[in-house]
Amino acid sequence: MKLFDLHCDTITECSIENKKLLKNDLHISIKDAQYLSEWVQLFAIWMPDDYRGEQACQYFENIYHTYNEQMNKNKKLISKCTTSKEIEQAIQSGKFASILTVEGGSAIAGDLDRIGYLHEIGVRLVTLTWNGSNEIANGCMSRDESGLTSFGKDAVRKMHDLGIIVDVSHLNDAGFYDVAKLSQDSGKPFVATHSNSDFICAHKRNLTNEQINIIIENGGLIGINLFWQFVGADSCDFVYRHIYHMLSLGAQNTIAMGSDFDGCTTVTQLSGIDKMHILYDYLLSRNIEQKVVDAIFFDNAYNFFINNLS
Ligand SMILES: [Zn+2]
Repeated sequence: MKLFDLHCDTITECSIENKKLLKNDLHISIKDAQYLSEWVQLFAIWMPDDYRGEQACQYFENIYHTYNEQMNKNKKLISKCTTSKEIEQAIQSGKFASILTVEGGSAIAGDLDRIGYLHEIGVRLVTLTWNGSNEIANGCMSRDESGLTSFGKDAVRKMHDLGIIVDVSHLNDAGFYDVAKLSQDSGKPFVATHSNSDFICAHKRNLTNEQINIIIENGGLIGINLFWQFVGADSCDFVYRHIYHMLSLGAQNTIAMGSDFDGCTTVTQLSGIDKMHILYDYLLSRNIEQKVVDAIFFDNAYNFFINNLS
């Protein structure tokens, strides 16, 4: 079985809890992923909402240090990838592949030049906000319901220019539509790395049918989140319902996995990367065609990153 997962907070947890990526008691470890024939993982540096300026930069550097350290220690097993070619090479040589991301635009510290720095050190996707507000935009839990700031719009344009993928998970509705507009202008697709369907589970963190349709039309990705509160029940069947609903909207080339491992309390049955085969088998048992299940678990995200990373 192959897995391409758009979001986890494992590196942030490793950094804060001083744990190792190879073997640990977290949702994700390299050891627990060994059963996968191919595995591409986006590792997020999670940023607190309220960090600003130097404090945000310093915090970012600490987690980034852990990411590099863990990638170096395990370089025989997993490759840090920044281009489509590197992803292909990692897979061809039988290694796992890792892509660095940032969850929370506070890492940019209100300085456009920092986007160039983030790109230089290998960040290839930025989730514009976490739950609250930052210099770029407002998260869906913020009281501020306005869209992207003018700095935020410049930041997104710069990400498009550099080839950093923009992620709308956590963003409020006005911000979503601003990103959709900027994305249309530049012709660069955007993604929601870890968001479910609001039709199946009404929650601000989930996407409306209209938003799902925009992401489909735009050629983006939607990663299915395993946090039971966004799923709507502690049940594998409810995860299936989100997928089935999105498929009914025509998202067969758009749906991917966005586990949110080590950032949430998952559905009990899916409490780690070593349990992902349970979901895979469950989807097959509900008569989703194998090629569609494979697309959701791997191919859709793989094709997107091969096409959208330089
Ligand atoms: Zn998140």
